[in-house]
Amino acid sequence: EKDVFEAVNPATEEVGETYERHGEVEVDGILSEADETFESWRARRIQERESMLAEAADVLRDRKREYAETMTREMGKPVTQAVAEVEKCAWVCDYYAENAAEHLQDGRIGGEPGTKTYARYEPLGVVLAVMPWNYPFWQVFRFAAPSLAAGNVGVLKHASNVPGCALAIEDVFDRAGFPEGAFSALLVDSGAVEGVIRDDRVRAVTLTGSNPAGEAVASTAGEEVKKTVLELGGSDPFVVLGDADVEAAAETAAQARNLNSGQSCIAAKRHIVHEDVYEGFVDAFVEEVEDLTVGDPTEEDTDVGPQARGDLRDGLHEQVRASVEAGATVETGGEMPDSGGYYYPPTVLTDVPEGCPAANEEVFGPVAAVFRVEDEDEALELANSSQYGLGASVWTDDLERGERLTGRIEAGMTFVNSLVRSDPRLPFGGVKKSGYGRELSADGIREFTNKKTVWIQ
Ligand code: NDP
Repeated sequence: EKDVFEAVNPATEEVGETYERHGEVEVDGILSEADETFESWRARRIQERESMLAEAADVLRDRKREYAETMTREMGKPVTQAVAEVEKCAWVCDYYAENAAEHLQDGRIGGEPGTKTYARYEPLGVVLAVMPWNYPFWQVFRFAAPSLAAGNVGVLKHASNVPGCALAIEDVFDRAGFPEGAFSALLVDSGAVEGVIRDDRVRAVTLTGSNPAGEAVASTAGEEVKKTVLELGGSDPFVVLGDADVEAAAETAAQARNLNSGQSCIAAKRHIVHEDVYEGFVDAFVEEVEDLTVGDPTEEDTDVGPQARGDLRDGLHEQVRASVEAGATVETGGEMPDSGGYYYPPTVLTDVPEGCPAANEEVFGPVAAVFRVEDEDEALELANSSQYGLGASVWTDDLERGERLTGRIEAGMTFVNSLVRSDPRLPFGGVKKSGYGRELSADGIREFTNKKTVWIQ
């Protein structure tokens, strides 16, 4: 095994910078420093931690071009979307700079009359974040901003293909004036994660990524009785009812499926369409998808860039191939390009049979599956037939009906007439195989705290 990480540019297949792996001694040093920093970090006033987060937001905005280009180089995100991602990270830092203290106010609770009883949110200590490459900044900041504000410190095991992003994020906190050890990147591969979880200095783990990774991490953490938050895969339904605005639905569906070159946990993946509007939806959707600009992610007007890694692109094509073999029809796309770079064309599949990969598995790329249903009940049954339960989107002109349906969908988040998105003000997370726990909002900042009951007689 090499002792360096290589960052491969997915648009060109060229190996860029290499980064030295951290060995056991370095990992031990990083954990010790984190653990020591925790003692002084937690003792600071929360307002001080909030103002450092506001500084981090400024650093992100000042250097957004540089950070965006690092993402584009390492995982192929179209640069316009990469800039927007850095801006969103600044937003989540600002959000907690403004709201952390309020979210963590001592909660009055009714105890024994004549006593003073309340709950106080205390930090847990060193939290390990195991993070994926798809939103290499956002996924990390969504955890780091609330967690640091609450008084925890963070160590990051980032995906192996984005080491430059991992170090850039460490650099953001450095520049913002956070103490050494408040947030550190561990340049290790996934084999080293178990040892880090079992280390006494590490108190909790958050993971965003695939189910196998989540299961491995949660099993180890379970044995060690350490709290976990898991944000895993999704196969979000996008339900278009007979009374929906079909043009608007098709336009949003094309966006929702192909943002980030289709590599998003909350992308709309299964389009479930009422037969009354089916033909109109498919025509409009295919047209929107064919209008997307596919190509060089460094160009400002590119909508869809390459897939992040060659193996992932090959796996995606295999899912398409197997679905077609099972009976699905390719409306557009579906062919592996023979030019360089890990490109895959935006693809729409119809007549998708039950049990094939496009119906059953998480399809992590620009490939949409469309299903025809006869009524609302069939739509809901199909929407809920997935092992996943992350987000869902429902389209109808009857808002009361839409709101009623949100109660019948098995998902952590349900949007009516809008695409599923994350927002610092709202809880984010899933049910079923999509994971547990919540990020963002007041719920997110409280996940990695000790809700300590205090009783004063
Ligand atoms: P992984 O889930 O393997 O990677 C996510 C993170 O987990 C990385 O930091 C990875 O490290 C780490 N990891 C992987 N396996 C383990 C393990 N056994 N123990 C501890 N840490 C581990 O995603 P992939 O990059 O392999 O992508 C595969 C598929 O996962 C995608 O096609 C997609 O379906 C899904 N995925 C979903 C995401 C989501 O947001 N829902 C995000 C990313 C992927 P390392 O990179 O070193 O292996």
